[in-house]
Amino acid sequence: MLTDLNWKGRCAKMILVFVVGLFIGSFLNVCICRIPNGESIVFPSSHCPGCGRSLTPWELIPVISFIIQGCRCKGCNRQISWRYPVVELLTAAVFAAIFTRFSGIDFYIHVLFYGVMIVILFIDLENQIIPNSLVLLLLGLSLLVQLFWPVQPWTTALLGGLLGGSLFLLLAIVSRGGMGGGDIKLVTVLGFWFGWASLLLVLFLAFLGGGLVGGILLLTGLKKRKDGIAFGPFLVLASFIVTMWGKQLLGWYIGISGL
Ligand SMILES: [Zn+2]
Repeated sequence: MLTDLNWKGRCAKMILVFVVGLFIGSFLNVCICRIPNGESIVFPSSHCPGCGRSLTPWELIPVISFIIQGCRCKGCNRQISWRYPVVELLTAAVFAAIFTRFSGIDFYIHVLFYGVMIVILFIDLENQIIPNSLVLLLLGLSLLVQLFWPVQPWTTALLGGLLGGSLFLLLAIVSRGGMGGGDIKLVTVLGFWFGWASLLLVLFLAFLGGGLVGGILLLTGLKKRKDGIAFGPFLVLASFIVTMWGKQLLGWYIGISGL
């Protein structure tokens, strides 16, 4: 009976986390639009990029407003990007997933971390840049965690940062700019956040994903060999997989390799 109540309570909390995630996703959309242009993320209030009309409270409701409006602005009939509902739903799903794995302060830390990571994913996808301000935010959060709620020794974190940074610097030199400065900085911070061992798993998954998607885009002719594809999204996705299932993946690998 008690477990039944606990289960219901957890479900209710999960739904709350999902709904809050939708609204935070709506804010992340604003960040994705404005940060690359150097605009304030607070002022002015949300408006249509086509006609500048301020959005009504109804139009600020995530996902539902997109469906009701038929994907178009009421003022100028401009099509609203698919990115808006996708970011809202993705943020909600990511927060709910984090809720299944972490509790207390760990939950809030990961929600913050992956909130910023989602913004990085979409800005890199649309603009092929990773803003320094966002990487600095992740670095600040990593330092706070390492100072107050450490889950790994300083040496593991620092070696991770050093490994990630030097590896990607080398890649940037060898590929003559195929890997951007933003990627180098992001991987350095990810190395510090994950530690060197988990970073290797993140990089393995990111290169696997990047290789697969890159290969498919080349084969289908959607991209040419000289077109670059943003690597940031793969780093973000790989990081999330390692945060959620890293231990199981390593256990499975050790199991099949017979180490
Ligand atoms: Zn409009």
